[in-house]
Amino acid sequence: MTLLQIRDLYAGYGDFEALHGVDLQMARGSVTALVGANGAGKTTLLRAITGLVPTKDQNIWFDGAPVGGWPAHRIARAGVAMAPEGRRLFPSLTVAENLDLGLATGRRGPWTLDRVNALFPILAEKAAMPATRLSGGQQQMVAIGRALMGNPKLLLLDEVSLGLAPTVVADIYAALPSIVSEGATVLLVEQDVGLALRNADRVAVMRDGRVVLEDVADPSRRDAVAQAYFPAAEEAA
Ligand code: ATP
Repeated sequence: MTLLQIRDLYAGYGDFEALHGVDLQMARGSVTALVGANGAGKTTLLRAITGLVPTKDQNIWFDGAPVGGWPAHRIARAGVAMAPEGRRLFPSLTVAENLDLGLATGRRGPWTLDRVNALFPILAEKAAMPATRLSGGQQQMVAIGRALMGNPKLLLLDEVSLGLAPTVVADIYAALPSIVSEGATVLLVEQDVGLALRNADRVAVMRDGRVVLEDVADPSRRDAVAQAYFPAAEEAA
């Protein structure tokens, strides 16, 4: 039932510790939104899960294996993929070539180039174009498509809505149910709490390098989430 279990995770950059004992659990097939103020540690947590930020101990269990300390390529092969903040597409490669990079995990499954193009049809139309000539929303679709090409069990999405128009954001979030129905579990970082609560099953609030609230993602819980998110609001209450 549990796909990801994180217990008392500490991680950071050199001597700087950004995560101070994170606990988080995710059930298979669930969508969890990770919210929190700038600098709370959301991106660092995603990077620790993917092995890009070293972790001190074996505090991350993924699909039954203690993956804390594994190199990033091994974690990717085990089934963790990320669409990173800022998308990180290769400007010299076409849309199709950027998508193909996702195949490096060697994992087979429902996600092929045809299936990704069916999910985001604009990518088939723009297949031969340099990826960075696309609009921001289309580039975000390439980043998500590239992650899906690796057929992950766990898909990490870092701020997919950042800087995009609401209609484009809606198009991207409309893809989530198909991604989950094909078997993926999703952990998404989202600055917009309303969007997070509408699109996820669970919400986790990070503050100062810890998860301070974990709950069902119900729009009626918005006040509780906002209170956990902003310590000042809690103190003023
Ligand atoms: P944001 O919404 O601004 O991306 P976040 O919740 O994702 O915020 P992180 O990016 O994980 O937060 O940052 C957590 C802490 O780690 C911050 O204090 C940040 O300054 C620091 N940090 C992030 N990246 C690095 C880095 N490469 N080197 C050193 N410190 C970093």
